[in-house]
Amino acid sequence: MAQQYRITLLPGDGIGPEIMAVAVDVLKVLEKKFDLQFEFQEALIGGAAIEATGEPLPAATLDICRNSDAVLLAAIGGYKWDSLPSHLRPEAGLLGLRAGLELFANLRPAKIIPQLIDASTLKREIVEGVDIMVVRELTGGIYFGKPKGIFDTETGEKRGVNTMAYTESEIDRIGRVAFETARKRQGKLCSVDKANVLEVSQLWRDRMTKLAAQYPDVELTHLYVDNAAMQLVRAPKQFDTIVTGNLFGDILSDAAAMLTGSIGMLPSASLGASGLGVFEPVHGSAPDIAGLDKANPLAQVLSTAMMLRYGLNQAAAADYLEKGVLQVLANGARTGDIMSSGMQLLGCRAMGEALIQVLEK
Ligand code: NAD
Repeated sequence: MAQQYRITLLPGDGIGPEIMAVAVDVLKVLEKKFDLQFEFQEALIGGAAIEATGEPLPAATLDICRNSDAVLLAAIGGYKWDSLPSHLRPEAGLLGLRAGLELFANLRPAKIIPQLIDASTLKREIVEGVDIMVVRELTGGIYFGKPKGIFDTETGEKRGVNTMAYTESEIDRIGRVAFETARKRQGKLCSVDKANVLEVSQLWRDRMTKLAAQYPDVELTHLYVDNAAMQLVRAPKQFDTIVTGNLFGDILSDAAAMLTGSIGMLPSASLGASGLGVFEPVHGSAPDIAGLDKANPLAQVLSTAMMLRYGLNQAAAADYLEKGVLQVLANGARTGDIMSSGMQLLGCRAMGEALIQVLEK
C-alpha cells in the first residue's frame, strides 16, 4: 500500500503561489514513481492571510500545520504591507509559525551546482565540489536571551542590552540534530563557537564534546567563529556539516549560501521538537517579478526535496528529485536569475514543465 502523508501548503505572497504550483506538480509525479500518496491542505500566511483575516498567522493555519506530516512554505511579504505595525506585518506570521511549531533547528545547505558554478563570485577551483550543511540553532541564544532592551543608566546615558544564553538541554537538542544530519552526509561535524571569550560557548563546546561519545561514526571538530568565517571563503571544501548557535548561524549560513551565487536555488528546512518541519526557499516573495511568470521555482523544488529527506524520511525520492534538477539544468533550461549565454530562457511554468518531463522519464 502507498505510504500516505498529509502536507500543508503555505503559498503566501508574491511569487509564492507560482513556485508552489510547480512543487505540487513535482510531488504528484513522485507519488507515482515512489508509491507515495500526498494529501494536500492549503492554509493562509503572510499578506494573503492579512487580506483574508486581518492577521498574518490565523490560529487555523497553526492548527492545520500541526495536523500534518510536513509543512511546505513558499514566501511571504510585499510592499503593500510594509507600513503596518510590526506585529501585523507578514514577517510576524513567519516568526509566529517558527515559535508556534517550536522549530529550533534550521538546516541550510550550500551545495555548488556544477552547471551554475560560474554564478559564484569565488574562483572555480575554490568552490567546485562544495557541499556544506549549516545547522543553526533557531529559538535560543542572543536573539531571545534575557535581559534585553534599552535601559537608562544612573549617568543618564542609555545602555542597550542583549544576552547570549544557552541551557544544556537547548545545546543537546540542536547537537543531536546536527550529529544525525552529519551521519546522513559525510560524517564530519564542525561545531562553531567563541569559546576563547564567551562562557556560553564554553558550555556549548563541552556539551558537543560529550554528545560526540554517542556518535562514534561522526568526526567532531571545533572552530572559533572568526576562523570559521575565514575558512568558509578560503577553503570551503573542508566543511561537511557545521553546527552553531543562532547569531553565528545567521551570519555563517548566508555566507556559506553565497558561495553558490544564486538566490533562486537555495532551499532550507526548519525542524521542531515534535518532528514536524517547515521547508521553504531562502529567498523572499520577490514582489518585483510576482505574477510575471519569471520566478525560478527550483529553490522551492529543492525545499521539497529537503521535505522528503528530512521531514518524511523518503531519501530515495529526495535523491531522484535533486538529480532531476541537475538534469534539467544540464539540458540548458534556465530562468532569468541564472541565465547565461547559450542557455534556454524559460519562465516559471515552463521550467516546471521541463522538470516534470525529466522526472517522468
Ligand atoms: P527577495 O528574496 O524576495 O528578492 C531579492 C531579489 O531576488 C529580487 O530581485 C527578486 O526578484 C530576486 N529573487 C528572489 N527569489 C527569486 C526567484 N525564486 N527567482 C528569481 N528571482 C528571485 O528579497 P527582498 O526583495 O529583500 O524581499 C521581498 C519581500 O520578501 C519582503 O517583503 C521581505 O520581507 C520578504 N522576505 C520573505 C522571506 C521569507 O518568506 N522567508 C525571506 C526574505 C524576504
